[in-house]
Amino acid sequence: MNYLSDRINLLAESETLAMTRRSRELRAQGFDVINLSIGEPDFDTPDYVKEAAKDAIDQNFSHYTPVPGYPELRQAIANKLKRDNGLDYKAEQIVVSTGAKQSLANAILCLVNPGEEVLIPAPYWVSYKEMIKLAGAKGVFIEGGIQTDFKVTPEQIEAAITPETKLFMFSSPCNPSGTVYSFDELKAFADVFARHPQVFIISDEIYENINFIGKHHSIASFENLRDRVIVINGLSKGFAMTGWRLGYMAANSEIAKACDKLQGQITSGACSITQRAAIVAMNTDPAESTDINMMVEAFRYRRDLAISLFREVPGIRLNVPEGAFYLFPEVTAYFGKSTGDRIILSGSDLCDYLLDTAFVAIVPGSAFGTPDCIRISYAVSEDTLREAIKRISSALSNLK
Ligand code: PMP
Ligand code: GLU
Repeated sequence: MNYLSDRINLLAESETLAMTRRSRELRAQGFDVINLSIGEPDFDTPDYVKEAAKDAIDQNFSHYTPVPGYPELRQAIANKLKRDNGLDYKAEQIVVSTGAKQSLANAILCLVNPGEEVLIPAPYWVSYKEMIKLAGAKGVFIEGGIQTDFKVTPEQIEAAITPETKLFMFSSPCNPSGTVYSFDELKAFADVFARHPQVFIISDEIYENINFIGKHHSIASFENLRDRVIVINGLSKGFAMTGWRLGYMAANSEIAKACDKLQGQITSGACSITQRAAIVAMNTDPAESTDINMMVEAFRYRRDLAISLFREVPGIRLNVPEGAFYLFPEVTAYFGKSTGDRIILSGSDLCDYLLDTAFVAIVPGSAFGTPDCIRISYAVSEDTLREAIKRISSALSNLK
């Protein structure tokens, strides 16, 4: 008897986390698995942030926190949005959560009704689709192919908007493609949304700091849209704090209050210790932070290295990601090839094959709405990256 709710039965497991779980299981069995499936910096949290957390424990920050976050943290985030992004938000418009993931879920659940449409450029981050499903809404996907650096055009967006469209959501820098939208491209999107005042925009900026082309731009910069944009961000990527669990959103006061109410019934405020550490992190100007600059330079170096190594591998077609820490190659050249009785018909087959035979874990593009590709995280050391690409290349050369 299946007594679980339809809601949970319909929900897919997060494929990024599933691949990571499989690679951990294989490792526990003694296999030498290289995990390029999870997207998290391999760097340590900066020392000054760790010190702030230790102080918080000693100062007994051990009680429930205000649901939307400590006032000092909300103010520090408002200051950060002004300093780094030129955006004017009041502290009351910020809601702190247990990770950008929770902020995304809060915003979706507070905005969309069952049956409404949510427009998402593909490839998209794995959890968007399932969060939309949980809300009972309908995901409508617009394709950006590798030939356009996985970017969608304003014309595609305009053509996909219907009277049922409630929300448009995207990440820039993008997980999984590393695509970064320029100011002018965002302005062209904003011009489309100006013509459709019923559409809200979730702008996931979690990879803001990991950008190889200079300044990050937010679609919230356009004044005429500001009240309809929900900016999502957090500490996981930029400050190498994935396990600390801290995200936030900035939105109009009505949406912020709604998310506060929702969060108050589900998780309450985020961890007190993490929040005290987050105040210190948010008060750091990334442009002047040696920790952040060093990390970004390391990612840039590894990106270039991985691209040059993959260019030697036949059948791998790449864009040059301008942010985040993933490659998202198109691998259709391998579809239909085989070795022994193993036939590769899809990106999932290819990822299974690479895990089973090369012991390298990567995520199929189908998880991100683009089944012709696979996602490879290069947030690992140079030696690990070289070894992984050597193994992948050798396993691929056995496919005929
Ligand atoms: N959005 C994107 C695009 C991500 O890659 C991630 C990474 N997990 C998240 C949101 C969620 O981040 P967090 O760890 O803050 O929940
Ligand atoms: N954002 C990371 C990824 O895409 C973390 C995993 C997750 O939260 O799904 O791999």
